Amino acid sequence: MSKDYYEELGVPRNASAEDIKKAYRKLAIKYHPDKNPGNTEAEEKFKEISAAYEVLSDPEKRARYDQFGHEAYTSAGGGGATDFGHAQDIFNAIFGGGGGGAGFSFEDLFSGGGARRRNPNAPVPGEDLRYDLTISFEDSMYGAEKELQIPHLVSCPDCKGTGAAPGAVKKSCTRCGGSGAETVSQGFFSVRQTCRACGGRGQTIDKPCRTCGGSGKKQQVDPVKIRITPGVDTGNQLRVPGMGNAGERGGAPGDLYVFINVRPSRIFHREGNDLICEVPVPFGVAVLGGKLDVPTISGKATIVIPKGSQFGRVLRLAGKGAPSARRGGSRGDLHVRLIIETPVNLTREQQALLEKFTASLDKSNTPVQNAFVEKAGAFLADKE
Ligand SMILES: [Zn+2]
Ligand SMILES: [Zn+2]
Repeated sequence: MSKDYYEELGVPRNASAEDIKKAYRKLAIKYHPDKNPGNTEAEEKFKEISAAYEVLSDPEKRARYDQFGHEAYTSAGGGGATDFGHAQDIFNAIFGGGGGGAGFSFEDLFSGGGARRRNPNAPVPGEDLRYDLTISFEDSMYGAEKELQIPHLVSCPDCKGTGAAPGAVKKSCTRCGGSGAETVSQGFFSVRQTCRACGGRGQTIDKPCRTCGGSGKKQQVDPVKIRITPGVDTGNQLRVPGMGNAGERGGAPGDLYVFINVRPSRIFHREGNDLICEVPVPFGVAVLGGKLDVPTISGKATIVIPKGSQFGRVLRLAGKGAPSARRGGSRGDLHVRLIIETPVNLTREQQALLEKFTASLDKSNTPVQNAFVEKAGAFLADKE
């Protein structure tokens, strides 16, 4: 059973609207889940005080609450915030925040200025970059070498990444006093953020480098050679160390990740390291048996079609599938699926021959059909 809403907020029953607001604001900051990550007790408390505030901050609701009392009011469905999202809405209405709305974040609010604690002269590693590369099915099977043109930020060669022109003097930043962080007031709160004058460095330069404008970095396109290992598949990644963006103040550059996308083949379908190929088979070859040429990634192969092959039969060619891109991985198989082609555009003569042939068939020629007719008959008989 929850407490009385006045007790919840710790205010007397005759508290003014201003007192109620003040009490809620204090408690909401204390119990907000962003400040108490993983603490379900705090979250519960946050929801309860939000529910209390929702009622007591509304003169009409508060009057009814006073008249009926806590039990009657809440059991009549007049209760407030029961879920966190709703509690958060109430909170946002007061603090003017909200998911990205006013740019207000608890991190800024509670960290006591994360930017202030950070050493403004510490090295910062460069960002990793992603490059999406589409290659042909053939390149994925046989391997290839590719030269990519990668745009990335490099340390400015003229100032060696310092951002200063020759002879320039570095001064402590006047805006932030060298701390790299400044205080910005947002509504009720003062928020510490990265200094806009010095970009967090804590220092300014009287003559910035003319090549990079003082940023210490410069956009550049560099060729990068990569080797496609036979067997790579869509979703595989290649890491090129150091080809990401340059770091700052001696920080290591990021890496480049090349994400592979393989264009589908018009003949083969890949599943793991196995390849599947659907091959049309002439009607006569399927009936009488025979030889058939099929494509494989290592050239043409001749396979034997057994006499009486049915549509969809799969013949396996061991070791004729995709190579494995993993070291020590084994090559897959090629599965040839027989697609038996029904002859079309028959001449009168061919039609007559086929009719004569069909008339000559007996039950022993069509075991699949016989079995089906039997099963279907039993099914239909059951239904009657
Ligand atoms: Zn420069
Ligand atoms: Zn500054």
